[in-house]
Amino acid sequence: MMNEEIFLCSICNINSGTCNEDCKFCSQSVRYKADIARYKQKPMDAILQEAITARDNGALGFCLVTADKGITDKTLKFVCDVAKEVTKVAPELRLIACNGTATVEQLLVLKDAGIKAYNHNLETSRGFYPQICTTHPWDERYETCQNVNEAGLVLITGGIFGLGETQEDRISMLEALNSLNPTSVPINFYHHNEALELQPNPLSVDEALELVKLTRETIPNAQRIMVAGGRELMFGQRQEEIFAYGANSIVIGNYLTTNGRVMSKDLEMLKSLNLEVAKKVK
Ligand code: SF4
Repeated sequence: MMNEEIFLCSICNINSGTCNEDCKFCSQSVRYKADIARYKQKPMDAILQEAITARDNGALGFCLVTADKGITDKTLKFVCDVAKEVTKVAPELRLIACNGTATVEQLLVLKDAGIKAYNHNLETSRGFYPQICTTHPWDERYETCQNVNEAGLVLITGGIFGLGETQEDRISMLEALNSLNPTSVPINFYHHNEALELQPNPLSVDEALELVKLTRETIPNAQRIMVAGGRELMFGQRQEEIFAYGANSIVIGNYLTTNGRVMSKDLEMLKSLNLEVAKKVK
């Protein structure tokens, strides 16, 4: 089934590359010394400019991402300050926070500051996770998602394919995601960085499209299946096919540590497919 309205989201890395965890797919871990930008706090002016650009290009979602395992008091204050300032310049944007593991109390503070949704991914299956990360357990990720539901924020949770997981792992992750009843499910495709030991993503385009479909089928109540990081690299010339396989949301602009294509290219693609850009959150 072809979806008619596509939800566009933009992500803003308000703190980058300073994480001490060891997730093997992540170039933001300080352990792998990947050649990426690293900073503690992006200047407010730059964040506000990104928010305005995202809004002007049709984004409804604007996600404030910090690279760390969880929220420190300092991060919490910074994200709240950013949320309040973005709301002033671009009130049309729906603010999402993505700041790692979080307690219900911390999530309620974010909610008070204007954050509407929280993104925390399960990343992969519970069984495969120890091969991907040894510094924190999968269960902690699941608990944070439960906390998001408890805090009354919109839950956005998904994962990443192409890490060397089996098809059983993928199904297990999707079933776990479904059990959390998320509103939006971002799926990412591993984008190899030469500093990372993990082998490049082995998925073919056809296999990746089938995974978009499987995500849609396994999590039928999610309002949005979002193809997030790795879209251009994974699907190349065939990326417009993701919508026929059940995706109805994409990230426009740059990703956390890699560049996306210019936003206008995505808008042209949607237009050529007769797909409308969603103007409001359902
Ligand atoms: S916790 Fe998040 S930012 Fe840190 S290494 Fe893992 S995926 Fe990257």
